[in-house]
Amino acid sequence: MKEIIFLEPIFKEMIWGGNRLKTDFGYNIPSDNTGECWAVSAHSNGDCTIKNGAYKGEKLSSLWKNHREIFGGAKGDTFPLLIKIIDAKADLSIQVHPGDDYASQYENGSLGKTECWYILDCDTDGQIVVGHNAKDKEELKTMIAEQRWNELIRVLPIKKGDFFQIDPGTVHAIKAGTVILETQQNSDITYRLYDYDRLSDGKPRELHIDKSIDVIKCPHVDKNTDRKEIRMEQAVVEELETCQYYTVKKLTVTGRQTFDQTEPFTILSVIDGEGKIDGTKITKGDHFILPAAYGTYTVEGKIQLITSHI
Ligand code: ZN
Repeated sequence: MKEIIFLEPIFKEMIWGGNRLKTDFGYNIPSDNTGECWAVSAHSNGDCTIKNGAYKGEKLSSLWKNHREIFGGAKGDTFPLLIKIIDAKADLSIQVHPGDDYASQYENGSLGKTECWYILDCDTDGQIVVGHNAKDKEELKTMIAEQRWNELIRVLPIKKGDFFQIDPGTVHAIKAGTVILETQQNSDITYRLYDYDRLSDGKPRELHIDKSIDVIKCPHVDKNTDRKEIRMEQAVVEELETCQYYTVKKLTVTGRQTFDQTEPFTILSVIDGEGKIDGTKITKGDHFILPAAYGTYTVEGKIQLITSHI
């Protein structure tokens, strides 16, 4: 099949959300507290609709269920990935996700959650939470019991274009003023460790301290952030991450460049600029899937994309 599948994003209002999904991406958002754009999702909490072509009007979940050939016959009950753009106007709570083993045992057979972040934009003194400073589980438990949050939580400076892989067991949080593209396993299991003692409707939001302690890896070990870079004639391809769940790359095209789609399927998100793919106009904020056996494709323009495949 040689048809590009464009998707209609779904928006989620959040207490910490803002309006940058409109001002930066031109999306028609429901309010000035819109936190998330679910750009490529077949999750039951937000199932994207196909915008064009033979499957126009169908949900991504139904494509996955009824037309597995589009995805190269990839295995699994549910579409494996979820792509979001997140606008954090305020700090998100500090959280951790379980891995597959823990989630399947304690969360009714759910998958765990591995995710990664590409920083689309942030304040000049932008920060992010990745990791913690406890040397072992005992120290972790003590610091949590004594509420030594500032000592425990590891805050890093960030800048536009940074990338973070968040494995299960990694303490993490997006901080105010940050817009990110998130590629994640299609799962929603989150344990909230600390919420800055904030109140929501007069009450603190529920925390999951015991499960957090169970799954947090001690000590925290930073991931290698080296990027493998392939320079082509009119493009640069940076491999941001390869793990058992996904490979994520950044494509920067500065003219006209041909690529190969040889994966079961590839998801592409335009994060900056505009141009064309095989003659079809694409612009910042577009998200689409190249199906199995799509073969070669040509991107023209001054344009940046994040791609992912399983
Ligand atoms: Zn997370």
